[in-house]
Amino acid sequence: MKIIGLIGGMSWKSSLEYYRIINERIKQKLGGLHSAKCVMYSVDFAEIEKLQHAGKWEEATEMMVDAAQRVERAGAEMVVICTNTMHRMASDVEKSVQIPLFHIADATAKRIESKGLNKVGLLGTRFTMEQEFYKGKLENVPNLQVLIPSEKEREYVHEVIFKELCVGMVKEKSKKRFQQIIENLVSQGAQGIILGCTEIPLLVKKEDSSVPLFDTTWIHASQAVDFALNLTDF
Ligand code: GLU
Repeated sequence: MKIIGLIGGMSWKSSLEYYRIINERIKQKLGGLHSAKCVMYSVDFAEIEKLQHAGKWEEATEMMVDAAQRVERAGAEMVVICTNTMHRMASDVEKSVQIPLFHIADATAKRIESKGLNKVGLLGTRFTMEQEFYKGKLENVPNLQVLIPSEKEREYVHEVIFKELCVGMVKEKSKKRFQQIIENLVSQGAQGIILGCTEIPLLVKKEDSSVPLFDTTWIHASQAVDFALNLTDF
């Protein structure tokens, strides 16, 4: 079993989910008293969020590189960045360490490909929905088209992530609005919806959608375990 190096705190609400899912997956695969070998370096999200919204991506990259080097020094044998948005700088992070980086969009793309879908909707922060770093990776799946919500809807999703989910608020009203946004994407042909923000699965569950959901927290955490156990190669 490889030691999994988690970069957490973005937000800590979803880092808790990573820790739970990783250990549940190890238990499912190895049984008994087995649990995950892992280390986590958890950042102060207030500092990260400030840089993101100021567009200071170079400084944010330095922070992610520093975090990855810390988990490497702590003995990790692979890096897992526990957020979609901060994969914007994944290639710089990967170059700064000797250990492999297990990319969230690659894991998600692989899962979508295995289901044979060719049109999916993407929900996440505005950075994830609007910038190329994430959609570009997904579009490595042959013939996959990625739909995003309208500008007003993107603004809404983004606000709920930062003002509610990342501070631990899960509101029925927001869930209802997310359901409408999902149905709008379905009416444009989406056959599945990517929950491309690691906190959205705290709000939206599979019974809230008429099409399959791709929960990136679960996909990333559980596939990272399979990679750590040499059950998959990426
Ligand atoms: N956890 C969220 C994500 O998956 C948002 C936090 C962030 O901006 O890094 O994108």
